[in-house]
Amino acid sequence: MFQLPSPIQKIETELTQKFDVQLFIKRDDLIHPEISGNKWRKLKYNIAQAQLENKHTLLTFGGAFSNHITATAAAGKYLNFRTIGIIRGEKYTPLNTSLQFAESCGMELFYVDRTAYKQKNISTVLTQIPNYVAADIFVLPEGGASEWALKGCAEIVDEINIDFDFICCACGTGTTIAGIATNLKNTQQAIGFPVLKHPNLHQEIEQKIPDLKSNFSLIDASIGGYAKTTPQLVQFIKAFYHEHQILLDYVYTGKVMLRLFELIEQGYFSKKSTIVMVHTGGTMNANVFNKFKD
Ligand SMILES: *Cc1c(COP(=O)(O)O)cnc(C)c1O
Repeated sequence: MFQLPSPIQKIETELTQKFDVQLFIKRDDLIHPEISGNKWRKLKYNIAQAQLENKHTLLTFGGAFSNHITATAAAGKYLNFRTIGIIRGEKYTPLNTSLQFAESCGMELFYVDRTAYKQKNISTVLTQIPNYVAADIFVLPEGGASEWALKGCAEIVDEINIDFDFICCACGTGTTIAGIATNLKNTQQAIGFPVLKHPNLHQEIEQKIPDLKSNFSLIDASIGGYAKTTPQLVQFIKAFYHEHQILLDYVYTGKVMLRLFELIEQGYFSKKSTIVMVHTGGTMNANVFNKFKD
């Protein structure tokens, strides 16, 4: 059911040749068709912990388009958990494709207003939920961003059997890049690409990995704003698909790859550098596929 370790592929373009760098893509998008790449990395040890605690209900939080919500719903379906999704904001019908998918996996969705959502007060939320057994619930934080998630993301590095200098990935909460940074050699650097403006992100990542401050840097990839596209981005994703038959999503991985190409072009990486870009997924949404494939 899971394709692990995920494959790693070399990306050869005029640009990499001209600037004499080697670029690889770690295909975490291929781990599972319904569980977005890094969301599985983040769920893995959380779910193992839930199983260890003999709990059968996963409760988590997310926005209406959250890949973490859909991934948790799918993981619950395959691994026999009851799943409860607490969604930020009002219910809109018809449901968008992400929430439709979550429901089709059996996830029970509850909506809370933004203020209540921020507080993430489980007992208030629980009053809405029928037939719950508090002792049976394992709570996953928003975006799956827990200690267990770091451990799962660190495994991305274990699976890479080439020598690399830089490892790059998209950042939302920064959990994935933090986990990666815990598992690098002194000579290796992680570069996180935040896709939303988040002034404290650097500090928040440092707090997750207090001993490793110098292992990572952040480079803005908010291009056009969170979950927004620009004509250049759409063009880039289409061209990338045609050249390499690899689909990038427009919220995370397309932006990272576009920024990475710009950095290579600007001579950011010295000659002979080896760069690994982690394709964190996000492409399982049919809308994304139809929008960018042709
Ligand atoms: C959620 C997500 C991210 C962000 O991961 P964080 O660990 O929150 O930084 C990156 N890429 C994709 C495709 C995602 O779904």
